[in-house]
Parts: sequence; structure tokens; C-alpha cells
Amino acid sequence: MNITMSPDDQAYRAKFLNWLSENIPSTTNDDTPEDWHEQAEIYRKFQRKLFDAGYAGIHWPKEYGGQSGTLMQHIIVTEELSTNYSWKVFDSLSMGLVGPTLLSRGTEEQKKEFIPKILSGEHIWCQGFSEPNAGSDLANLRTSAVRVEGHYIVNGQKVWTSLGHVADFCIVVVRTDPSVSKHKGLSYLLVDMKSQGVTVRPIKQITGQAEYNEIFFDNVEVPIDRLVGKENEGWLIAITTLMFERIMNEITILPKLQKSLDRLIAFANNTIRNGRPILKDPVYRQKIALLQVDLEVMRLNQYRNLSTLLKGEMPGPEGSIGKIFWSELNQRMQETALEIMGPYGQLMKGSKFAKDNGKFAFDFLRARGNTIEGGTTEIQKNIIGERVLGLPKDTVRRN
Ligand SMILES: Cc1cc2nc3c(=O)[nH]c(=O)nc-3n(C[C@H](O)[C@H](O)[C@H](O)COP(=O)(O)OP(=O)(O)OC[C@H]3O[C@@H](n4cnc5c(N)ncnc54)[C@H](O)[C@@H]3O)c2cc1C
Repeated sequence: MNITMSPDDQAYRAKFLNWLSENIPSTTNDDTPEDWHEQAEIYRKFQRKLFDAGYAGIHWPKEYGGQSGTLMQHIIVTEELSTNYSWKVFDSLSMGLVGPTLLSRGTEEQKKEFIPKILSGEHIWCQGFSEPNAGSDLANLRTSAVRVEGHYIVNGQKVWTSLGHVADFCIVVVRTDPSVSKHKGLSYLLVDMKSQGVTVRPIKQITGQAEYNEIFFDNVEVPIDRLVGKENEGWLIAITTLMFERIMNEITILPKLQKSLDRLIAFANNTIRNGRPILKDPVYRQKIALLQVDLEVMRLNQYRNLSTLLKGEMPGPEGSIGKIFWSELNQRMQETALEIMGPYGQLMKGSKFAKDNGKFAFDFLRARGNTIEGGTTEIQKNIIGERVLGLPKDTVRRN
């Protein structure tokens, strides 16, 4: 794959950056929202502007509200948004997981109904996969759906549902046939979060924020046309979503990590310790240089994954390599940041002594979840071992 941008792509980037500088919301651009609902509204308004200007769903088909442009143009816009606009978090599931899954596995009606609303920011989505007894072993899930006339009646509980408190819709994996082996009796539903019987309860994290939730389904009616794929064949659709999650997330994460490293370098350069800028300390120079090298490795691996998508192929299990790499890299970066900050590294946003608005203290705590969300590192290693390297199977099959 040619990893240098063509002159056309460079011109496209310049044109988009020009548009962005005139249209980006002027509100504070720190990394995580204080008030999720307020920020969700800012996201929706800005997403609508992107949509109207032809910068949403660039490589998705025109008939569903996209631009039928190239994947490279999509990458350019995604990179620039991730670098310049932190609240892109609200579309991470809609655009990274739900849209691609529906485009590849949804019905014509589902694509026409949902894709344009994802692109215009009208709908924010969440992912209702994990349950109290089904995380790594996702197929163990118990939330049930029983078919009654034109509906499924859904009962059960999901947990760790990111964005559940602001989402309009949720992709939910349910058990529709308890009599067959656990991977076979699952189905994949699109659930309106405003349906009667849906209760969302936020969970506070180690960062102090409530970014994810418990969701309870109490006799929730879901129309049959909200089934993706065939009944009892939802495992295949769930795996499709997880493959997209592992590959597409990298595109947004890389610029964020680069931005984080740049901020750390600026801090180390501008802070005098032992009579010289911290950046002149040979130990920290080595550590920072190594982080930059790791980011370059991540970039090249990402290009390798993207070349699969450019050829029109579906993402495969090799996406797990990138997932392990970026999640561990972010943890290493945040640990280095805290070493460099010294005692200041413990001070969160709100403290008058906090450096860089407490960003690194927050990011250190948030990074702990990176090696769990989207499938733990141990599970990714199993996937690489079994499906990439062809090693013998682990005794229990999971996502
Ligand atoms: C920040 C964050 C956001 C999340 N967002 C969402 C979301 O939006 N939607 C959603 O559905 N879920 C979400 N999750 C849940 C996430 O997918 C699960 O936490 C994850 O899959 C692990 O499941 P578990 O927590 O049940 O841990 P368990 O599966 O109980 O695992 C516990 C430990 O055992 C290890 N382990 C388990 N099985 C094996 C094995 N076979 N071999 C080796 N080790 C093993 C695991 O690696 C882990 O260390 C989120 C989690 C986090 C932290």
C-alpha cells in the first residue's frame, strides 16, 4: 500500500482544515465532557453541520446519506476531527461500529432508516453486549427476547454500556433460543432507548465520571423489523461489530495519543527541574522518544489494516494486534506522564495547582479501562493465537 497521501488527498485535507477552522464549536476543547447531555447537544449541532457540508459518511454510499467518496478521504476527516475536536466520542459507536455493521449486514429498510440519522447526528448509539455474567464469554449472555406477534419482548440486564445515558438507540444481543448451544441461540436487535421498560442507571468510574451504565429491560417491545440478520444467527453479526470496533477505533485513537504525547513534550520542555527543562533529562528523553517510536509502529500497523478495508475486504482477527498495542501504549504513556509530573500528577481538574488542567491525572485513570473495553488483552491474545497464528483452541470459546 502507498502510505503517502496523493496530491488530491493533500488538497482535500487542506480544504477540510479550512472548513473546520471556520466551523468548529468554540466551547472548551478539553478531552472529556463535564455535562454529557449538554455536550451531546453540541455534538449533534456540529455533526449536522458536517453532514450538510458533505463531511459525514464520506466513504459510505450516497443513497444512505454518505458521499460515496474514498476511504482515504474518510480517514483524513476522521484524523483531523480526532485531533481538533475532542467530543468526537459521541459518534465513536454510531460511526465506528453500528454504521459499518448495518451497511454490511442490515436490511435495505434498516440502512435507509438509520444510516442518514447516524450521519446527521440525530441518533447517538450505544452497544448493549456485556452483562454481569457475560463479558469475555459474551455468548453466555442471558437477556432474553421472545417473539410475540409483530414484536420481540426483551427482558434482562446489560452492563458497562458506554453512552447509554445519552443514546437514542442501542445494538443489543439477546437470547432467542435457550434450548441450543450458547452461540447458536442469539439474535441481534436495534432497540429504541425511549421504549417503555428501558431503565438506564449510570455507573461512576475511577475517574469520577459516569461514562457508562447499567441498562435494564423490563418487557420491552422491539418490532420484528429491528432484527439484524436472521433470528438465532446474531453471533455472526456481533462478531462483525467487534471486528469493526477493533479496526475503526484505531483511526480516532492514534491522533488522540499523538496529541497527548505532544502535550507531554510541551510540559517537559517548559518545566524546569534540577536547573534544566525536564526534556533535557536523558532518562525522560529516552522514554518520550520510545513513545514516539511506538506511535509510528501503531501508525504503520493501522495502514496495514486499512489496506484490507481499501481492498473492500471485511476486517479480520488481526485487528486484535492493534487493540493490544494502542491500549498498552496509552497506559505506558500515562505512566510516563505521571513520572514526569511528579506529585502534580495526582491533581485532578478543579485543583488550582493542577498542571494542564489535570489532564494527565484523568487520562492515567481512564487508561486502565483500555485493556478491558472492546475485549480484554487476554482475550485478544487468544484471538491472535487461534485465528491469526492457527494455534490450538482455548478450551472455552468466546468473543
Ligand atoms: C471503559 C469501558 C467501556 C466499556 N464499554 C462497553 C460498552 O459500551 N458495551 C458493552 O457491551 N461492554 C462494554 N464494556 C465491557 C467490556 O467489554 C468487558 O468489561 C470486557 O469484555 C471484559 O468482560 P468482564 O468485565 O465481564 O470481565 P471477565 O470476562 O469476567 O474477565 C475477568 C478477567 O479474566 C480474564 N479472562 C476471562 N476469560 C479468559 C480466558 N479465556 N483466557 C484468559 N483470560 C481470561 C480477562 O482477561 C479479565 O482479566 C466496557 C468496559 C470498559 C472498561
